[in-house]
Amino acid sequence: TKLRVGLLFGGRSGEHEVSINSARAIAIALSAEENASKYEILPFYIQKNGCWLAGEIPQQVLDSGIPHIEDKNLNPWKLPDQVTQVDVWFPILHGPNGEDGTIQGLLTLMQIPFVGSGVLGSALGMDKIAMKMAFEQAGLPQVKYKALTRAEVWSNPCIFPKLCDEIEAALDYPCFVKPANLGSSVGIAKVRSRQELEAALDNAATYDRRIIVEAGVVAREVECAVLGNDQTKASIVGEITFQSDFYDYETKYTAGQADLLMPAPIPDAVSRQIQDMALQAFAAVDAAGLARVDFFFVEATGEVLINEINTFPGFTATSMYPQLWAYSGIPFPELVDRLIQLALERYSGHE
Ligand code: ADP
Ligand code: MG
Ligand code: MG
Repeated sequence: TKLRVGLLFGGRSGEHEVSINSARAIAIALSAEENASKYEILPFYIQKNGCWLAGEIPQQVLDSGIPHIEDKNLNPWKLPDQVTQVDVWFPILHGPNGEDGTIQGLLTLMQIPFVGSGVLGSALGMDKIAMKMAFEQAGLPQVKYKALTRAEVWSNPCIFPKLCDEIEAALDYPCFVKPANLGSSVGIAKVRSRQELEAALDNAATYDRRIIVEAGVVAREVECAVLGNDQTKASIVGEITFQSDFYDYETKYTAGQADLLMPAPIPDAVSRQIQDMALQAFAAVDAAGLARVDFFFVEATGEVLINEINTFPGFTATSMYPQLWAYSGIPFPELVDRLIQLALERYSGHE
């Protein structure tokens, strides 16, 4: 009998549409000849309002690639009956309410294996402040930063200037202001003056309770894919190039604005260092299954700094993660198969 894979996609996140595209690519991979005899797909769609659907509508969303107009009469805590038929979950969700440990907690309580990191790895990988603390502890080099809360930013107007003074004393311009728990560059600003800093902090506070300000670096952006549980492997290193000021939302999702170079045209020793750091970062946050680890390569000094880990990276046919593995010798359908097998292996390991 075939293993029933609960393909869980959509989600209450700004990356809802990306998730649909990732799920489409995975559904195609699960239907490939070598997988079709092993797996049966059960699609589950989480609407933008957080409510789950099973059956025909999720299949339509998969086929069309278009989000479903929300059915508002559902409860987010009421799961479709088909949930009980799932043998293994593939939660292909990006960003908050999916990549951050919340869904992973739910699936853990269901006692069904699932692809990817557990609660801790997902949460640490989503929160840029907690992530940086874990990286620091592991001895991984990164940019200087300062962590703040919304309460501090929106506190009494006498405290705010002092906060900005402290940031200016710790970090030079330009610096990057980010909500701590988002992805796809949403809410991120590159600031060059006090005035821009103040506006960016206020804006970031509308997205998240936790805010991070980082020293800006002039660097090339390189990424490495990791696959495995306790025994991990790193892919070749890829580079992203673009003309815009930084790798912002528009650059990420407008066709033709960014190019992927595979392998990255950097010295072999630097690639090896990046692969090594990627495996360390994966372990530092307790990731499992998969992650894409992103770095800054400061060519002027030869330095490599870790930027972030993404525990559920973009998984469309043209996304960096599957492309890095395809280049490293693991074609997309085999990658999906391996991830499911890793989920089963991890689950049986902690039963
Ligand atoms: P996200 O999780 O949304 O992808 P990132 O922290 O990766 O957020 O930031 C998005 C982009 O912003 C990066 O790919 C890079 O182009 C730019 N960026 C972020 N932080 C810095 C920094 N400290 N120095 C230089 N560029 C940065
Ligand atoms: Mg990210
Ligand atoms: Mg990023």
